[in-house]
Amino acid sequence: MTRLLFEGFPGEESSFEGARLQPCHQPAQDERALAPEGSPLQPAFVSGHDFSRADLGTKNVRALAPAAQRVARSTTTVEAPGFSPGESVPVKEGLQARAFSEPADPKLREHCGVVAIHNHPDAARQAYLALYALQHRGQESAGIATADGTHLSNIKGMGLVSEIFTDDVIARLKGDMAIGHTRYSTTGDSALLNAQPIRVESTKGLIAIAHNGNLVNLGNLRIQLERQGAFFQTTSDSEIIVQLIAHSQATTLVDAIADSLRQVEGAFSIVMMTRDRIFAARDPHGFRPLSMGRIHNPDGPDTVVFASETCAFDLLRAKYERDVLPGELVMVTEDGVTSRQYAPPNQTSCIFEHVYFARPDSMIYGRWVQESREEMGRQLARESHVDADLVVPVPDSGVTAAIGYAAESDIPFRFGLIRNHYVGRTFIEPEQRVRDFGVKLKLNPVRNLLEGRRIILIDDSIIRGTTSRKIVRMVRQAGATEVHLRISCPPTIAPCYYGVDTPRKAELIAANYSIEEIRQYIEADSLAYLSLEGLRKACDGGEGNKFCVACYTGDYPTQWVDVEDILPAAAVVG
Ligand code: SF4
Repeated sequence: MTRLLFEGFPGEESSFEGARLQPCHQPAQDERALAPEGSPLQPAFVSGHDFSRADLGTKNVRALAPAAQRVARSTTTVEAPGFSPGESVPVKEGLQARAFSEPADPKLREHCGVVAIHNHPDAARQAYLALYALQHRGQESAGIATADGTHLSNIKGMGLVSEIFTDDVIARLKGDMAIGHTRYSTTGDSALLNAQPIRVESTKGLIAIAHNGNLVNLGNLRIQLERQGAFFQTTSDSEIIVQLIAHSQATTLVDAIADSLRQVEGAFSIVMMTRDRIFAARDPHGFRPLSMGRIHNPDGPDTVVFASETCAFDLLRAKYERDVLPGELVMVTEDGVTSRQYAPPNQTSCIFEHVYFARPDSMIYGRWVQESREEMGRQLARESHVDADLVVPVPDSGVTAAIGYAAESDIPFRFGLIRNHYVGRTFIEPEQRVRDFGVKLKLNPVRNLLEGRRIILIDDSIIRGTTSRKIVRMVRQAGATEVHLRISCPPTIAPCYYGVDTPRKAELIAANYSIEEIRQYIEADSLAYLSLEGLRKACDGGEGNKFCVACYTGDYPTQWVDVEDILPAAAVVG
């Protein structure tokens, strides 16, 4: 059963509602978050089997590792008391239900996607469609808030957009304005209360906010605000912006928003909504993307839309108009669109959006992601050519760069690894442990293509190295005579503090080992990364000065004072 949090529905404040039956169960942490103080924990389920506290002893879910919390979603079954990732729980004789968390070497994960719709008779459904297109930016929770000039309602839940927003649920969200959010959390815990949009009653009226990014001076601000009497409803950094608005001395709402945005530092692309207005803003560095589009209405004013990526506009049939600029605050009312530069721009946008996060069919910072990725592959081929028989992408993220590499090197491109797109987070594992089972479940080699051939494998990053090693082994075991790994960005040597979930520096293989040492570890015949210069060139045609590249250099574009673990482990960069 998917459980939802309703806000702004008279008589249903903070209540859950079962939307529809699901084969698996909502993470236990959601129940914990909203269970009345002192009440027994709700039963948690593993593969549809009920393991209540009595079944599994007295271990508290609070003791679960963060990694376990991160894999939780409505179709995930990890979060049972006493059950941690990788731990087996008997389901049936001869079979084991196993948490498929692959904690050893995950991909870097994006924080969030945001959307906003102004002036559409079915705004909630438009927001739903846009969030559906942005699902790759966060799969942990999603929410939509709508307003009709008088009321502001909000529904959010844990899980995928399509799992939360059934027809019945969307029908309850009335109004011609909407904002939406899909989330993978990097600050605050992942409980339902921290799902967004966050709806806060403030001295400036009712405000809903949805935020993509990460604030880096939140600790100080939170303490200051609490001293001024702020009462935080969530542990999410996004609420700080709303509390700053509420405590601003400015007399108009738009001035209060500008005032609050000037006080926060870090990455934020935000959309906000009051009962009758929509706001959209980006931080002065423009770390995260945010685009504005328009649906032409022949019989009245246009519908104005905002989204983290332009791929969301296509489903809405909206036309891309422009990016919200770094340091810009846009307001949309029934009188039209107005804008102000609330802070001078100093653009250092996240280059990793072009490398990995954004969809290739999106335009980010004025350039198509597909063009950038293909050019990364071409540049990689120019920088680190090696004789081989086939170029094979690690699907899906390596595909576009591999197409570019193959075109530039004149070596045939083939899908030599096939991805299973239907792998869930929990599976039935054979009784006999299978080496590298997790990767084998997701990827399978095409033996007749690989056998007896020299292979160039293209991937977008190496984080800890463990997954790359498994993939190289898999290709070799399928009969490849040589395996050369090419990475379409420079070595990742530093963590991100701007809304991307990266491991600590001590866990980043490239921060601690030379390229030759990494090659030996992953058991490749050769290993090469794209140069930083090559990456910049691929993403902007050579201007090269508008990107954050801190995870490749360790030089951060902001002063950051309140982030834990500011001084990472000493690095030995090869
Ligand atoms: Fe993007 Fe890396 Fe900068 Fe983070 S540190 S914003 S991932 S380029």
